[in-house]
Amino acid sequence: MRKKLLIAVAFCVLLPGQMLGWDDVGHKITGYIAWQRLSPAARERVIKILRSAPEDSHLAVYYQFYGVRSDAEKQLDYFMLVPTWADIIRERSFPVRYEKYHKSDWHYTSVFWRDVSGKAELIADRKPDGQAIEKLAEFEKVLRDPAVADKDKAVPLAWFLHIGGDIHQPLHTSSRVTDVEPNGDVGGNTFLISPQGAPRAEQQNLHWFWDSIVPRNIPYDFGICEGCYVKVVAEMMMSRYPFDAEKAGLSLSNYAAWKDESLRLAQNEVFRSDLKRFETPSADYRRNAFRVAESRLTRAGYRMGETLNGIFGN
Ligand SMILES: [Zn+2]
Repeated sequence: MRKKLLIAVAFCVLLPGQMLGWDDVGHKITGYIAWQRLSPAARERVIKILRSAPEDSHLAVYYQFYGVRSDAEKQLDYFMLVPTWADIIRERSFPVRYEKYHKSDWHYTSVFWRDVSGKAELIADRKPDGQAIEKLAEFEKVLRDPAVADKDKAVPLAWFLHIGGDIHQPLHTSSRVTDVEPNGDVGGNTFLISPQGAPRAEQQNLHWFWDSIVPRNIPYDFGICEGCYVKVVAEMMMSRYPFDAEKAGLSLSNYAAWKDESLRLAQNEVFRSDLKRFETPSADYRRNAFRVAESRLTRAGYRMGETLNGIFGN
């Protein structure tokens, strides 16, 4: 039974790994960067917690994939995978896991706003959609609580690492209201950048554009292992945005501030005046977008790492 489960779970993780998307690459980058920040004591604690996860979450079983290699290599690859777990569990072929663990509205906190003559204006009487901010605060509390057993910290830790990444994607904090989207654009999902009238299968939207931005800018070379690819990309981002230059702005535990930062970027960098519905974003827009995404992913990794160091570092 255990072996069967392991094989089934392996398929679910390995197949998406070959079809890289932001969800995968972006979250693994933040995992890699967070790991670089963790002290040896914090590394040991988080791995111990994750490996004590309830069996039906499948979270612990992934550790065994990483085969016969050094513990240090296994731990890093495992830790990079963990932030993607909240997306892995979207897979409905494990109905028990899906029902129990999948929570679609934990991935974002979308603030409603509109553009009024080039200025962003919040829609004060609309409560944001989604629970990302509340969940980050709640899970930090659980992780800090000495009365909570490790097995009950594992799933909150995996969620914390996932949502911490998501909230740095500007469109996970934004729902723009327009004449054609009076109820908001669902994080840019209804804003198409493919030609008007394109068949559904060929439609591309703004949310997808931002989610999948890393592998589109730095294509995955199948000649190297996926983990190696993620490491190269993450190291490049860390050298562009070094920790020492970032640390003063980390605002640890201030999840509302993290969200506000992302929302400002959504308003000023995502919905730039040159972005047009039904048009491919310009080369200048694409360059700027990747620069923004790199800085967001790096900051997310530093924030996750330093938060966990604060909790488990000693
Ligand atoms: Zn997510």
